Amino acid sequence: MTDEQLAIGVDIGGTKLAFVLIDRAGHILAEHRLPTDPLQGEGAVIERIVAGIATLRDRAEHPIVGVGIGSPGHVDPVRGIVRNAVNLGWEAVELRKAVSAQLADELPIFMQNDGNAVALGEMYYGVAQGCSDFVYFAIGTGFGAGAIVHGEMLDGANFYALDIGHLALDPTGRLCTCGQRGCLEMYASGVGFVAGAQAYLSDYPDSVLANTDAITGSDVFNAIQAGDALALCVWDEAVEHLHQIVAICAVTLNPAMFVIGGGLGHAIADMLLPLLESELPSRALPSVYEGVQFAESQITSSAIGPACLVWHGLSRR
Ligand SMILES: [Zn+2]
Repeated sequence: MTDEQLAIGVDIGGTKLAFVLIDRAGHILAEHRLPTDPLQGEGAVIERIVAGIATLRDRAEHPIVGVGIGSPGHVDPVRGIVRNAVNLGWEAVELRKAVSAQLADELPIFMQNDGNAVALGEMYYGVAQGCSDFVYFAIGTGFGAGAIVHGEMLDGANFYALDIGHLALDPTGRLCTCGQRGCLEMYASGVGFVAGAQAYLSDYPDSVLANTDAITGSDVFNAIQAGDALALCVWDEAVEHLHQIVAICAVTLNPAMFVIGGGLGHAIADMLLPLLESELPSRALPSVYEGVQFAESQITSSAIGPACLVWHGLSRR
């Protein structure tokens, strides 16, 4: 593979579609964004995905060797199907087939769940370069995760591995969009921040959030930074759930590193990373926690990881 070859990456987010065109060295040659607007239906979203890919393809000055797509939900990378993408309202979408048909060329399309795809990007071009065993948390509107084990994406028997956003840490807890109660995502994500603020609002009538019309994750984040009592209650709850999931991942996967990314993840990384690092020794044995690093993601676009699916996929053909 030479530097002359290019790859397109697509990240399907709950609110936006991110596209990048990269070369083998990881340089971003072009970027594009479109709204996801999942309420318009899957057909409209797929049309925008195809339009975004075509926009970057038109700007490429060297051959594009593939497209990588990272999607929320349960992604079957073999059949190219996305299932149960709750935030998109997708039950089962044959994404590869649909995108392929509309692109009208023979570009190979590689798919993965967004957590695994972004983790791969971190290994190729980010903070985890040279690290073959690590766990990635994408903290954004929702909670995504991925793990690299011995340099490979961990996807499991049915590609559901690391679907920890919907791990019901407290089965009697807050109702989640997936139908379960007490999912990690309902505490440690933008959705979780908002749900927490709404749940405790009546206990904190003096909170700055009490006068906010439609509370967003950023409102809660700003209130946390301002030391608002309600927001700090939401924060403590999020951090406790993250301590639990870090300990679970540490003992099951024995990673050398935890990487925190995602929009909200970047915003809270400075506050969160020292807390996670200092707490893990209380929840796991020294053999598990010694030497574990906690780092903020260095990848600047959520679509770079999906683009790396192309390099990774082609290298295994
Ligand atoms: Zn859930």
